[in-house]
Order: sequence, then structure tokens, then C-alpha cells
Amino acid sequence: MGQIISHKDDAYPDFKNEICFSCGESPVAFWMGATGLVSVCRTCAIQVLPCLIADAIWQQCDMSIPIAQNALTEVRERFWYAVACNERMARTRQLKERFSDGET
Ligand SMILES: [Zn+2]
Repeated sequence: MGQIISHKDDAYPDFKNEICFSCGESPVAFWMGATGLVSVCRTCAIQVLPCLIADAIWQQCDMSIPIAQNALTEVRERFWYAVACNERMARTRQLKERFSDGET
């Protein structure tokens, strides 16, 4: 399983030379998988990744709408979990910046 990488996270290298896996434009999100880095722009995240997910699910659910619907429920849960993780990272970053500036 991969992991979410924030381009603002100092623990990771600079991604300025990365390109979106689908359109070649500048990416805004990165995912470190077992075989390497996947980078995506916002447009392709909204327009391409859902189609890729649907294709992957459809191939494994015997063309069953109920099974596909269950998979979509799991996708939605993972989506909101990732949003929560990003929100937590952003809050942690804000706290670090606040306290490194000498505020108490
Ligand atoms: Zn793209």
C-alpha cells in the first residue's frame, strides 16, 4: 500500500520536475506506491482517476451493479479518510509554524 505525500512536506524531496501521470501537466498530489511515485493534477484526479477506479472495480465484480456499489461505498470511505488525513497534516503544519515563530 502506498502513502499520501504532501508537496509541502519537508521530509520528501522536491517534486517540481514531476508531471501528471495522465496529461503531463504540473501535479498537485503524489502517491508513493510499491513500484514508484504517481503524480496527478487536480483535473485528472477528478476526471481520470474515477474512470480508472470504475474500470478496475468493474473488471472484478462480474458486471454486478450491487457489487460495484459496495466497492464505491468503500472508495468513498477511503476518500474521506484521506481528506481527514490531509486536514490533520495541515493543522499540524500550522501548529508547528505557529510555535516555531515563538507564539505560545
Ligand atoms: Zn493531469
